Amino acid sequence: MIQPNVRAALKHLDARYPDYLADLVALSRIPSISAAGFPPEEVRRSAEATAELMRRVGIENVQVLEVPGAHPYVYGDWLKKPGAPTILLYGHHDVQPAGRPEKWLSPAFEPTERGGRLYGRGTADDKAGVMAHVAAVASYLAATGELPCNVRFVIEGEEEIGSENLGQFLKLYRPQLDADYIVLSDTANFDTGVPALTYQLRGIVQVDVEVQGLAAPVHSGMWGGPVPDPVQVLCRLIADLTGPKGELNVPGLYKQVAKPGKKQLQRIRALPFDETKFKRDAGMMKGMSLAGEKGYSVYEKLWTRPSLTVIAFEARNIVGSSNQIIDSCRARLSMRIVPNMSPRTAGQLLVKKLITNPPHGIKVTAKVTGGTPWWTTDPEGPAFEAARRALKAGFGKETAMIGAGGSIGFVQPFADALGGAPCLLMGVEDPKCNAHSENESLHLGDWKKCMRSAVHLYDELARLGPAKRRR
Ligand SMILES: [Zn+2]
Repeated sequence: MIQPNVRAALKHLDARYPDYLADLVALSRIPSISAAGFPPEEVRRSAEATAELMRRVGIENVQVLEVPGAHPYVYGDWLKKPGAPTILLYGHHDVQPAGRPEKWLSPAFEPTERGGRLYGRGTADDKAGVMAHVAAVASYLAATGELPCNVRFVIEGEEEIGSENLGQFLKLYRPQLDADYIVLSDTANFDTGVPALTYQLRGIVQVDVEVQGLAAPVHSGMWGGPVPDPVQVLCRLIADLTGPKGELNVPGLYKQVAKPGKKQLQRIRALPFDETKFKRDAGMMKGMSLAGEKGYSVYEKLWTRPSLTVIAFEARNIVGSSNQIIDSCRARLSMRIVPNMSPRTAGQLLVKKLITNPPHGIKVTAKVTGGTPWWTTDPEGPAFEAARRALKAGFGKETAMIGAGGSIGFVQPFADALGGAPCLLMGVEDPKCNAHSENESLHLGDWKKCMRSAVHLYDELARLGPAKRRR
């Protein structure tokens, strides 16, 4: 039976939905790109707009929190329910760069509704995640004057660049972050209309590699043949990172990779998989086959095995090119890592592989330029059951228990700082949302279901009482 306060909040949410959508559109208009080279004032403007919105709906003690050298965080709370548990709600207000403007069907920072989806950078990742909780909290406060439990909001401003100052943030603000449960809304659902709880995230390590062969570019006719081509050398070095069975050819790397437990494998195997749909959602061209290690299912590859991507490659633009052997070139490699790989060690092994015995004795330099640890939890116990009930109430469907191939640097340090409080990762994205790519979009029907689930979740967790934690 639905409690009267929950019913009232849901009714309010339905009635005010157009207003919350307008709020999301307003937030998504701000190009809060946290990456270097984009105006940091926009990230600040986004923090202030988020703070303003939170204040307006009755969230208290709203502040823009500063960490030297970092984009601003937004904090707010409502702590008027003594004896009830406190939920920490996490999201981020920064976004990825928009990519190629000509590929967007509507401008990245002019949110536009088409076919039940809201298109725009940050509409799904993660402004809708933030707004889902702001709307759920606002609905309780407006409809009943209170929440069933206490909440704290932490809205980060540098998630998309690896949460580098998170350690410092925790050091500075830990006393005001105490919570029994952590709810992170920055992940994807299993499918459109099918909710998910994410219990494992891959980590990431980034390595920049540069090949320098010549003092300056030289004529490819006068010198081509005997003089090695640094660009081909770099291509060969990168190609050599994948072995014949799709495995990563980095000596020592797999020694760190943990085998998933029996229960986890059961969970993975219980999930339905449709290869045609998977390829279509990924945007793969017709006739292409899947890559990755032989002998592993797609979900195993995505969630439990490392993978490597070339995220940047710099040699020479085609426009302006000429018949020259280019003197040097560079690439940025990004490796997703899994339990129990350490970002440092994995990065160092990759560096070692790249710089050892380069062809023609050419100069190869490589260094680790960033890393985020993986995260995993055992998704059993009352908090996870409560979350499953809330998602079922919101979506009308059973929750899929999934891993995620992506990385969120926030989760592990935060869970540690809060003494191992249960972490519930329930987001608003669906496989078609194109997060980080052009034409990012939010499925509005799912977003509404997420907001309704949040309303149920606060009530469900309130009924569990404060979590028993080790401190
Ligand atoms: Zn995100």
